[in-house]
Amino acid sequence: MKNISIDELNQQFKAQPLAETLKELADIFDGQKMVFSSSLGLEDQVITAAIFENDLPIQVFTLDTQRLFKETEALITETEQKYQKTIVRFTPNPDAIQEYTKTEGLNGFYESIEKRKKCCYIRKIEPLNRALKGAKIWITGIRQAQSEFRNNMQLFEYDSERDLIKFNPLLAWSTEQLWECIRANQIPFNSLHEKGYPSIGCEPCTRAIKPGEDERAGRWWWENQDQTKQECGLHVPLKAAKKA
Ligand code: SF4
Repeated sequence: MKNISIDELNQQFKAQPLAETLKELADIFDGQKMVFSSSLGLEDQVITAAIFENDLPIQVFTLDTQRLFKETEALITETEQKYQKTIVRFTPNPDAIQEYTKTEGLNGFYESIEKRKKCCYIRKIEPLNRALKGAKIWITGIRQAQSEFRNNMQLFEYDSERDLIKFNPLLAWSTEQLWECIRANQIPFNSLHEKGYPSIGCEPCTRAIKPGEDERAGRWWWENQDQTKQECGLHVPLKAAKKA
């Protein structure tokens, strides 16, 4: 592995095509664990295609919360079949799910933000922490256009709590660019995107949006519209996610 700082990474890769960036990164961090967390959104599918088509040494994983849409589950299978590769599924701890269901009810997350974040912690954050264990690079599909909260993010960031480098290669991409790439390269995508769902998470916590609404307005729509509260905790600091 070459020695390189976050600033140098941000400079070096700011205008480079996705596949080239990923290849170079794999070279720089040769022998280190590199992972990509996919939630099967458009941006995730673009990154997955670049990793799989170039046979890069980056593990693609998803958090199988066990509350996913059947369309999302079908997309996992379709993607694996198309590229003949595996998307590793991280599932929640069954005991924690049982305890939550007993104390809060299966859908207790509708009752308060605290109960919702507790559910997200069990079904997403704890499995995510397992998936990221030992990783040097964590690649995400975060884009600035998704919400105001994501505007301040950088291409490369240091996650001090997890001691890893977070890489958001599609940060500046527009939704139109994503569709162009998806169609030009025949990349599989979730059929729900064509039914008003730009951002897709767990089925009970995602609804279609109306024209003009923020891309993430269909996530946890029953809560107040504070952007920081419309994050499940995956991309906010660990301490904040735990506290919530
Ligand atoms: Fe639970 Fe909803 Fe969070 Fe999924 S998005 S983990 S169902 S609260």
